[in-house]
Amino acid sequence: MKSDRQEKLINKQVGCPHCNSMKFTRFGKDKGSLRFKCKECNRTFTEHTGTWLAGLHKKELVNDYLELMYQEKSLDKIKVALNINKKTAFDWRHKILSSFQDVEKKDFNGIVESDETFFLQSEKGSKSMKRSGRKRGGKSSTRGISGDQVAVIVTADRSGTMDLTVATMGRIGKKDIDKAIGNRIVKESILCADGHVSYKGFAKDNNLSLVVLRADLKQHVKQGIYHIQNVNSLHNRIKKWIDSTFWGVSTKYLQNYLNWYRIQEVYKKSICAKQDMANGSTQDIFSLNRYREINYRYQALITTQI
Ligand SMILES: [Zn+2]
Repeated sequence: MKSDRQEKLINKQVGCPHCNSMKFTRFGKDKGSLRFKCKECNRTFTEHTGTWLAGLHKKELVNDYLELMYQEKSLDKIKVALNINKKTAFDWRHKILSSFQDVEKKDFNGIVESDETFFLQSEKGSKSMKRSGRKRGGKSSTRGISGDQVAVIVTADRSGTMDLTVATMGRIGKKDIDKAIGNRIVKESILCADGHVSYKGFAKDNNLSLVVLRADLKQHVKQGIYHIQNVNSLHNRIKKWIDSTFWGVSTKYLQNYLNWYRIQEVYKKSICAKQDMANGSTQDIFSLNRYREINYRYQALITTQI
């Protein structure tokens, strides 16, 4: 499989995956891949270093896997179609979804809507399942925001740039918004959000104009253009997609499924969506580490529980 990344390394369009230096030269081969050696950090690498393909067996199945994933085939169907075991199918799914995290993360421009939504904490698929009965991310029986709800910050501008971030357990704070979208909103933009004090603080800190829309005061649209209906509709569509396609997902992997949803939205207008998806997935040199840190990030998330 001759990849675009190999081409880019040969043409010096990308740097050393270890130190980003351009001072590297060809250095033989490594299991069929071209190997390079960096003169700056002295380390060697191939086009797969850092990507989820590094050290992967059965690389020849990757394109078929991506195709089946593109068709949203279940792990059981993929297992049969590619003659791999279900654990491999599962691991590959999450390696690929981890690789989508930063793909096409553009700045927000113009009218920017942001609002959080909540998913019930779920340990679906976990062997040490402590909670009983409620496997799917349904509605909590208690009113208000409790600590067993996972806050997801959804942000979108009117040109289609979108961010879906698993932020914290329970109520979000200013720092959660900052972590999700801070530094990505272009200066002259206008932020639309509910009356949440965290959004007010975030807007103030970032010198952004804020239009507050309070549903409790029936403020659904202001001046005909300012509203948060796009993100609220996204909340519903994402939940519906997760429930109908996967019958709920484990909180540990929620960010990955959000990456999947976002990437489909980003590429839905592209005429070569499948190719874009494959390129995005196989060229991200931080994806293997991101995949390895899933457990760590989950632990960090649930310790935010009050
Ligand atoms: Zn280097």
